[in-house]
Amino acid sequence: MLELAAFSLLFPDLGDLEPFYLPSIQGDLTSTGPYHIFDLYCQDYGCECHKVTMVIADDSQENVLATIAYGWKSKSYYYKWGLDKDASGSLTNGFLDPWCKQTVHAPIFLNFIRRQINREPQFMIKIKKRYRMFKDHVDSPFYVPIVPPPQPLSDNVVSLKEYRRERA
Ligand SMILES: [Zn+2]
Repeated sequence: MLELAAFSLLFPDLGDLEPFYLPSIQGDLTSTGPYHIFDLYCQDYGCECHKVTMVIADDSQENVLATIAYGWKSKSYYYKWGLDKDASGSLTNGFLDPWCKQTVHAPIFLNFIRRQINREPQFMIKIKKRYRMFKDHVDSPFYVPIVPPPQPLSDNVVSLKEYRRERA
């Protein structure tokens, strides 16, 4: 299993998803936004996981506030794919990935993303399109997977800064 990688690492010209604002100040947050979303997909060759990991960060893009995983296929699809019943249910509902960085604010962003998924058809249309572009790209025999830098990261995502620096 390769690490997830951000869409914007493969397609820097297209960038990340649109930053967003929360409808109101919620919980202990001090701002309605903008918040940044990095959309990450899996680099495994031929893998049809149909899922996205959304890393929500503050406007500086430095501080991760939540990491949300979501799969848009059916529970039975993920069950056949190898997840157990609990995990298939979580993925199809959107959940805070326990292996990734979260904060006390994370549930607020999970609620927001669930609303986007359910009420804003364009949101998922865009993500599915980006997933397909990403998959078509990584399924090329010439694709060299992105691997995280050797120093330990605070979470299991590829550090964007490192790669932007390396590729600059
Ligand atoms: Zn996959």
